Amino acid sequence: MNAFEQFLQTYPDYARTYSLDQLRDAEYARLDARGQVYLDFTGGGLYAASQVRDHAQMLCEEVLGNPHSLNPSSMETTRRVEQARQAVLRHFNARGDYTAIFTLNASGALKLVGEAYPFTPGGTLLLTADNHNSVNGMREFARAKGAEVHYAPLTRPDLRLDAPAMTAWLAGRSGSQPVSYTHLDVYKRQATTLAERGHEVHLFDGASAIGGQFNMAKRIPGKEEFEETLRYFARRIAVTGVKLQLGSRVGAAQLQGMAFDQVILATGVLPRDPRIPGQDHPKVLSYIDVLLHRKPVGTRVAVVGAGGIGFDVAEYLAHGTDLGHPSTTTDLAAWLREWGVVDPEVQRGGVTRAQWEPPARQVTLLQRKPGKHGAGLGKTTGWIHRAALKMKQVEMLAGVNYERIGDEGLFVTFGKDHRDGTVLAVDTIVLCAGQEPLRELHAPLLAAGVKVHLIGGAFEAGELDAKRAIDQGTRLAASL
Ligand SMILES: Cc1cc2nc3c(=O)[nH]c(=O)nc-3n(C[C@H](O)[C@H](O)[C@H](O)COP(=O)(O)OP(=O)(O)OC[C@H]3O[C@@H](n4cnc5c(N)ncnc54)[C@H](O)[C@@H]3O)c2cc1C
Repeated sequence: MNAFEQFLQTYPDYARTYSLDQLRDAEYARLDARGQVYLDFTGGGLYAASQVRDHAQMLCEEVLGNPHSLNPSSMETTRRVEQARQAVLRHFNARGDYTAIFTLNASGALKLVGEAYPFTPGGTLLLTADNHNSVNGMREFARAKGAEVHYAPLTRPDLRLDAPAMTAWLAGRSGSQPVSYTHLDVYKRQATTLAERGHEVHLFDGASAIGGQFNMAKRIPGKEEFEETLRYFARRIAVTGVKLQLGSRVGAAQLQGMAFDQVILATGVLPRDPRIPGQDHPKVLSYIDVLLHRKPVGTRVAVVGAGGIGFDVAEYLAHGTDLGHPSTTTDLAAWLREWGVVDPEVQRGGVTRAQWEPPARQVTLLQRKPGKHGAGLGKTTGWIHRAALKMKQVEMLAGVNYERIGDEGLFVTFGKDHRDGTVLAVDTIVLCAGQEPLRELHAPLLAAGVKVHLIGGAFEAGELDAKRAIDQGTRLAASL
């Protein structure tokens, strides 16, 4: 009997691991060929021989281009990258909020985590002793932001995590952790930043969902990504422990009664009243009626006001989003057709004749100002909105006076001398005549001596600028 047979006799269970021996022979024969033992599977696992063969075959057979282009070779690369990403997510049973980001190596991934994690003074980074060196490197990010670094002990000689010591350590920490609770009442974005900073945060919204005007913006063709922003904030609210109360429209007295240390008003805006004679006619709707409450709109429409919201409403109605016409922004092939974009390999210059769907209804966009429509829109995107409306044959009238609304439609004249009076025989008139800050809680709270801050549309309603609102909220939260 040789040594191995003797070993099997002493440890018969070892025979049950035979499939591992087979795997080692088939896929990792180079270990035995070199007489090596490899243990560092946390730092970097060994590749199997079949992986190398399959991969080499794939590289020899495929033509793979830069993943960011639209030619067949690049699209194949993109498909494979996405396939790999989905496989990783499936392996970790990660759905919904998770995505997989490819980095050069584990150290690159850990660096990203270290840079992005919101370490704060008083917070703690707990590491296990004898960790991967790049994990230890995260200490520097934590310390730079004022957090403490601790090591959970290991047992010897097997170097496993000392579970009882770790449990005792965690229990001790939560009891002694210095947490400063400040009572705050906040609306939305800054809420999660405050909660991250250790404040107790109460977030009230009169609506049944978070997001305010984002719930209208996300319905505009091309602005679907606002949905993702809302998903992100919903998750942040859950993770940071913000106490969210939806369907809860609060008044000044109620807030005062709750004795918060500070109150932040992000109450947004009210639509501006254009005071057009006859505007209470049933054919008149506000942009909120159309976008949020989805009230039915006729086939001939006048949109009053050509600011950002007027443009958006005109695009929404001309496209027929309310009639179920899907947005081309979420369908690459349709979007390419619509804008006449093709692969430069197929057509020189990468452009061809745009193929626009006919408008879903006849839309007229009116503004009081003389001159070009959309002059105040973003420099880099204004031309896109103008082009989109032109393609949908939206009529644009400038220098308009809104004289009155009646059964026959909207009566308008032009210029200072109110000339060229004409009736626009429309079924629906949508008012998008600007916005004003909603600050009804501000004065009474100030008068009662409450520390109160105004941000976002409630601070300034001038233009569509969610970035400014988020920036203001985050900076304020970081300063409290
Ligand atoms: C159609 C449309 C398209 C837009 N497109 C863009 C764009 O492309 N880019 C961009 O940057 N911005 C865009 N915006 C603007 C953007 O949505 C706003 O700038 C942003 O939402 C402002 O945020 P806010 O927190 O100040 O107010 P809001 O989003 O208006 O939220 C205010 C919230 O306060 C709640 N509230 C008010 N009073 C009370 C009370 N007393 N108690 C409880 N709750 C209360 C309301 O219910 C509401 O949910 C768009 C807006 C619209 C309508």
